[in-house]
Amino acid sequence: MIPAKFDYVKPGTIDEAVRALADGGDDAKVIAGGQSLLPLLRLRLAYPDLLVDLGGLVELRGVTDTGDSLVIGARTTHYQLVHDPLVAEHCGILAQAAGTVADPAVRHRGTLGGSLAHGDPAGDLPAVTLALDATMIARGPGGERRIPAASFFVDYLTTALYPGEILTGVQVPKLGGDWGYRYEKFHRTAQAWAIVGVAALARRSNGHVTEARVGLTNMGSVPVRASAAEAAVAGAEATREALNAAAASAADGTEPPADLHGAPDYRRHLARVLTGRALAAAAGA
Ligand SMILES: Cc1cc2nc3c(=O)[nH]c(=O)nc-3n(C[C@H](O)[C@H](O)[C@H](O)COP(=O)(O)OP(=O)(O)OC[C@H]3O[C@@H](n4cnc5c(N)ncnc54)[C@H](O)[C@@H]3O)c2cc1C
Repeated sequence: MIPAKFDYVKPGTIDEAVRALADGGDDAKVIAGGQSLLPLLRLRLAYPDLLVDLGGLVELRGVTDTGDSLVIGARTTHYQLVHDPLVAEHCGILAQAAGTVADPAVRHRGTLGGSLAHGDPAGDLPAVTLALDATMIARGPGGERRIPAASFFVDYLTTALYPGEILTGVQVPKLGGDWGYRYEKFHRTAQAWAIVGVAALARRSNGHVTEARVGLTNMGSVPVRASAAEAAVAGAEATREALNAAAASAADGTEPPADLHGAPDYRRHLARVLTGRALAAAAGA
């Protein structure tokens, strides 16, 4: 289908983009890579009067080392995440998960900011930012605001961004060398969305896991942390048996969706199995 008619601007600075969005009011929408928005426009599930294209904002693209953390610009593409040396060194799970998003064509256009601002619980990167304890950086008419990933995803396709705010970047604390990681994704075909995904980080010392963080993809209306499994694994031996036992509680408290690809109970089973696998890989068990 052909999208409904809309006006289009391509600002050269973040301030201009914020102003254009404010001037457009409720009927204005940001577009980055267009990989989620364009299909919605074509299906006429979204019909903004104005599109504010972030494609001219070069400062929103790339990765900056700020000491204890990285700041990753919202327009950084999935392809760049996969290949960036700073991301590989300090938060490799983001590169690993970005490498599972769709196909090369989508990865070349789709952006980190678009994936997060879209707020799709089946998206791969939201659960990863939860596990990484990342902070979203937003800019709006009132200035800059920082929102922890834990409170950014509010409901299905809904984030804590205010109308008129642009996500400019994501601050990710660097993982030290004692952390291992793995993103496990179960999907129907190689380039499809996750039926369930698990982002696991594990810190290992003297044959034990001292701390773990686990984010779940597509296990509710928002990405969630597997808190019961995280608590169960802390202090456990870094063996497959012990980690699988801890992973048995991975689906506790979740409300996974039912769709053509799986019933809630099937997804709970997947979450437990994938969490066991992801923790074992992260802990080197
Ligand atoms: C065939 C196909 C397969 C896919 N498979 C997967 C998959 O396996 N895993 C996965 O995670 N995703 C998948 N996707 C989705 C897609 O890759 C991401 O959602 C996409 O990359 C979003 O980024 P974008 O830059 O294209 O965002 P856009 O489509 O431009 O925007 C998406 C939404 O975010 C808003 N937005 C974008 N940038 C900003 C910003 N900086 N600040 C505020 N709001 C913003 C837009 O207004 C819009 O509402 C797939 C998409 C396609 C077309």
